[in-house]
Amino acid sequence: MAILPILKYPHPILRKKNSPVSVFDAELKSLLADMAETMYDAPGVGLAAPQIGVSKQIIVYDVAPPEEKGDFSVLINPKIIDAEGQESGEEGCLSVRELCAEVKRAYRIVVEAQDAEGNAITIEAEEWPARVLQHEIDHLNGILFIDHLSSLKRALYKKKLKKILLEEKLAKDQGASR
Ligand SMILES: [Zn+2]
Repeated sequence: MAILPILKYPHPILRKKNSPVSVFDAELKSLLADMAETMYDAPGVGLAAPQIGVSKQIIVYDVAPPEEKGDFSVLINPKIIDAEGQESGEEGCLSVRELCAEVKRAYRIVVEAQDAEGNAITIEAEEWPARVLQHEIDHLNGILFIDHLSSLKRALYKKKLKKILLEEKLAKDQGASR
């Protein structure tokens, strides 16, 4: 198992189309284990493969309360086949620096996917778990939660990000010259 670096917006891989998984082998299992370890280490409640630079339709997540964490779930090639209601809630993303914002999502969803062995599964989720899954499935389509914000909020964030990136670069350059 290994903790992998998480790509940050505006990394172009986060915007790429992700291919469906067709081979369910030991290599996939090892990738899933690495993704879970990376997610727990971050810590996050979900992680999509493109966030670690793998352009495949894979999600790991764990929405259990803190004391019950460790038994993560996997969705491979997931598709939302039904969605109902609407709810606003706060979101952040391991790939988006220093931002939490309200995003509108469906209240309840039904997802068809495959498990780690390739078996077809259907899951229903409501409220916060439904939000987590919609956020992660967006990643598989190259969509980030900032895309759901108003253009004004997004513009403000891009301005803030420029500053963050500049500060990161300065810190790095300073480190290099020491
Ligand atoms: Zn995210």
